[in-house]
Amino acid sequence: MKRNIIIIGSGPAGLTAAIYAARANLQPLVFEGSQPGGQLTITTDVENYPGFPEGVMGPELMDAFRKQAQRFGADCQFKTVEKVDLSTRPFKIWAMDEEYSAEAIIISTGATAKLLGLDSEKELMGYGVSACATCDGFFFKEKKVLVVGGGDSAMEEAIFLTKFASEVWIVHRRDEFRASKIMIERAESNPKIKVHWNSILVDILGTREGGVTGARLQDTNTGAIREDSCEGIFMAIGHLPNSQLFTGFLNMNPAGYIKTGPVGTATNVEGVFACGDVQDHEYRQAITAAGSGCMAAIDAERWLDIQYA
Ligand code: NAP
Repeated sequence: MKRNIIIIGSGPAGLTAAIYAARANLQPLVFEGSQPGGQLTITTDVENYPGFPEGVMGPELMDAFRKQAQRFGADCQFKTVEKVDLSTRPFKIWAMDEEYSAEAIIISTGATAKLLGLDSEKELMGYGVSACATCDGFFFKEKKVLVVGGGDSAMEEAIFLTKFASEVWIVHRRDEFRASKIMIERAESNPKIKVHWNSILVDILGTREGGVTGARLQDTNTGAIREDSCEGIFMAIGHLPNSQLFTGFLNMNPAGYIKTGPVGTATNVEGVFACGDVQDHEYRQAITAAGSGCMAAIDAERWLDIQYA
């Protein structure tokens, strides 16, 4: 089935691209992927999306994005793309064993929270271990929790968790944070937040039945291992871009973020555009993702116009 534009991914970037492409009469097909609506669907209150002075629930916001795109004719399908071939035009895409082709592609596959890779982390994910404080913080009322990481995400999650938890300990592998000054100040001035400096989480104690009971930490200076009791552990060690599908076709930076530009959203393959968290490791906000989705749709429309004028 040949399309003008296929959009891969359905967070704020992908669905904004869909709104603009649909309004340009390009009848975009959107493959929504394994997390329709993207990362905002696993958050609760979104308080910084302009236009919502009282805040808005993440899933509600993404439903509204989708409805707006569908209103103008976007075809949103709950399918995950398994393979692409960007070596010839029209480009080829395989989703659930069906082959599709498109004149232009917009990639908006987002990013996924990084994990440490411990067996116990995998075993207890959702049973006391989480990568999303805003989703799961509520379950840790009056409990002691750990947050792993030293960047802005770790500070933000730790501060957020103090609304519920009795104590929040940040576990950081160095003796200074990577986070911005203002976030560090906010975290350090919060009486509920304390820090395990120079510490690596090497094991999580607990069971699925009983939840998390503690953490095994290694001192990076001495190598000594100690145990700390806690009832929840939040991973905040950054994100990985979901760009693996495009390896070998698109230029990426060493961390796997798709390179675009120098101006706009064009990748190194003509007709392929990228927007949102898969190409932005700097801002990673819903509003910046939506803005770049709009840019990608306009860039794609202009490119198609030139090709088929
Ligand atoms: P980040 O800045 O990459 O920080 C990741 C943190 O996790 C670092 O402190 C890093 O330690 C640590 N880490 C990474 N891998 C680890 C491992 N295997 N074991 C132990 N620790 C590990 O990621 P982020 O905090 O998610 O922020 C990403 C971007 O989003 C940044 O540009 C940030 O400013 C932005 N952001 C902004 C806000 C805000 O302003 N409100 C909120 C969230 C995110 P090292 O420091 O030792 O490398």
